[in-house]
Amino acid sequence: MSILLRDIMTAIEDFAPRVYQESYDNSGLIYGRPEMPIHGALLTLDCTEAVIDEAIAKDCNLIIAHHPIVFKGLKQFTGKNYVERTLLKAIENKIAIYACHTNLDKVKGGVSFEMANRIGLIDTRILKAESGHLNKLVTYIPKASADALREALAAAGAGKIGDYDSCSFSSMGEGRFRANEQAQPFVGKKGEWHTEPEEKVEVIVDNARLGMVIAAMKANHPYEEPAYEIHPVKNEYSEVGLGVIGNLAEPMDEISFLERLKEVFQLKTLKYTPVLGKKVQKIALCGGSGSFLIETAKSAGADVYVTADIKYHEFFDADNQLLLADIGHFESEQYTYAIFERIIREKFPNFALQISSINTNPINFL
Ligand SMILES: [Zn+2]
Repeated sequence: MSILLRDIMTAIEDFAPRVYQESYDNSGLIYGRPEMPIHGALLTLDCTEAVIDEAIAKDCNLIIAHHPIVFKGLKQFTGKNYVERTLLKAIENKIAIYACHTNLDKVKGGVSFEMANRIGLIDTRILKAESGHLNKLVTYIPKASADALREALAAAGAGKIGDYDSCSFSSMGEGRFRANEQAQPFVGKKGEWHTEPEEKVEVIVDNARLGMVIAAMKANHPYEEPAYEIHPVKNEYSEVGLGVIGNLAEPMDEISFLERLKEVFQLKTLKYTPVLGKKVQKIALCGGSGSFLIETAKSAGADVYVTADIKYHEFFDADNQLLLADIGHFESEQYTYAIFERIIREKFPNFALQISSINTNPINFL
């Protein structure tokens, strides 16, 4: 069974829309054509030469990685470093490379949620919700058509606020217009002023779904030229952001919690700040390099903040207010493959999916 690369990408990006990636990031298709038929995909945290060799051995012509192998512009492909060698090998063997990075970090069910589930956290939510992802769509429509429009907008993904969907606000007014001779007016006559009782329908919509919602609005609006506006909304969006905060079902002492981390993430070692001698229950975490969220974790009242790549001086920022634990970058994100696996298995149950058995962690412990 083969599937078009485009359809695999669509499945992943429905879950983790690419518009959410950080500006420095390079998520998306790195090598390959969207119309390529894919007969097998290999899931990995990092795409390296060894992973390309594994894909060849396992008869996969797509590698889906969390970390993009290419971050900045390449001017030559001569194999002088591991990035160029990996790409050359992929190109020579017609193996597509796709990455889903910071957009997968930022969605519900993404990298940090995978960590939280494995630790056993409940009541999880995004630690630092972002703003800049929301818009308000406003349109004006004859009353008789308004219900159908509201339904179509909701079906396209507009009007989601927290645990509520189909949210909208409507108010009554009058629309006035005059159609010229070329027009085909739904109501009123060509060349004459017309006044129509209209509803003003307002809905919230995120950037990822804006295109689809506008298309749904146009398809379900009876007017030839629907009047509409899109306004950026500055509110935080609880569905998108970095890190997770949640609770342990039962409070634990600090060392037992750290031991749980060692077990869940199969750690040889972990770094942590002085224990505070109390039970911990509220846990914040962020997969990968998350020291930029130490202050956010503190102000959210976390007892522990679990992340990776904490620098020496940043450990001092724990400041006896919380326990900081650095479990390693690879270790924190090693289960990311399981997110890709769930998305793809749900959509394409019979597709040949393989999980890389190569440990790509460049860091060793003695
Ligand atoms: Zn990472």
